[in-house]
Amino acid sequence: MTLSLDLTAEGARDALRARATPAEKPTLIGLTRVELGAALVEAGIVPERQAKMRAQQLWHWMYVRGVSDFSGMFNISKDLRAELDRHFTVARPEIVEEQISADGTRKWLFRFPPRGAGRPVEIETVYIPEEGRGTLCISSQVGCTLTCSFCHTGTQKLVRNLTTEEILAQLLTARDRLGDFPDRDTPDGAIVPAEGRKVSNIVMMGMGEPLYNFEAVKKALLIASDGDGLSLSKRRITLSTSGVVPEIFRTGEEIGVMLAISLHATNDDLRDLLVPINKKYPLKELIAACRAYPGLSNARRITFEYVMLKDVNDSLDDAKALVKLLKGIPAKINLIPFNPWPGTNYQCSDWETIEKFADYINNAGYASPIRTPRGRDILAACGQLKSESERMRKVDRLALEAMMIAGHGEA
Ligand code: SAH
Ligand code: SF4
Repeated sequence: MTLSLDLTAEGARDALRARATPAEKPTLIGLTRVELGAALVEAGIVPERQAKMRAQQLWHWMYVRGVSDFSGMFNISKDLRAELDRHFTVARPEIVEEQISADGTRKWLFRFPPRGAGRPVEIETVYIPEEGRGTLCISSQVGCTLTCSFCHTGTQKLVRNLTTEEILAQLLTARDRLGDFPDRDTPDGAIVPAEGRKVSNIVMMGMGEPLYNFEAVKKALLIASDGDGLSLSKRRITLSTSGVVPEIFRTGEEIGVMLAISLHATNDDLRDLLVPINKKYPLKELIAACRAYPGLSNARRITFEYVMLKDVNDSLDDAKALVKLLKGIPAKINLIPFNPWPGTNYQCSDWETIEKFADYINNAGYASPIRTPRGRDILAACGQLKSESERMRKVDRLALEAMMIAGHGEA
């Protein structure tokens, strides 16, 4: 049989859309326990009086055991499992690519359905193994509406916010791939912490501005830190923001995770250029919001991220201004060597300059680790994330995908 395809631009696009949006079953991942129980009752497969118990049962399978198929939920009757499968899904998203760096860093490219964006979207998640811990760097949006001039993600136009499920799916899939659920094997040769959890920490530092997707991020982080489920301590979850001042207080109050601020400059003139959201929420307001962060103490410090840009923000005077600006705030300063990406005009500061800068800050009493660049060979380092599909010109991508469909159409 030969499948006939209209390969005019419009036809190809329609064909793609049809392929990319199969009738999706709603997912149970990302619902609160109450929403989960209600969904089961509404589908008519669980009586009201069992809703709470069933929700608890599913919660355990989804988040403690990491099961991604109802058939693995052994203490649920076969009939109910079949009904669940008829109405819902707990499946993982599509992994387009998994790259492993020489240093053990892993980067996954995920593809999610369009959900109103017109075409499937792709995002990246990065795993960084270190001595004693494994950190997962999670994305909150496809691209970013903000345009920090040194950030690769900032050159990609926002396609859409990620849903709660899509944020959690990054964590669940990473744990699958690393064998980080009970009774699972870690792949041979994988670099992971010698003991304890393979994913012990999460940082909302991937693509996107998490505080521009507040509700979905909040829900996902509350599920990730739920003690009867994924059970990550809130002290091991860090949310990084470029400075969306109105949501900073709510982050502490309603989510209660650790805060990181992408500072990068100590005066408004320079910060306006590097982190343009500064024009809306200037340093004075940002620093005031930090001082008022709920739970702030010496045991729960704010991390200030500072990217080291050659001849831009890396002088000793800048270091002095930084110490002055943060005076009185329980803080850690994280110096990030600039990670270059194709087409950028910035350069990373010399190593000697970075060390001098770090010494000054250390002497002023701040812990100031220099973040070792990780996974540079697979463009997985901070600010280098930008999905492959975006790099390919849209018209080329459509043509390629149309060709793939056409190829599959021949039987
Ligand atoms: N949008 C949020 C979180 C994602 S960015 C935010 O801006 O905080 C995570 C961190 O990487 C931020 O501190 C960001 O400023 C930094 N970053 C972005 N591009 C970078 C690059 N090319 N090199 C080093 N760090 C970069
Ligand atoms: Fe967006 Fe953060 Fe990149 Fe700025 S640094 S463009 S806020 S992802």
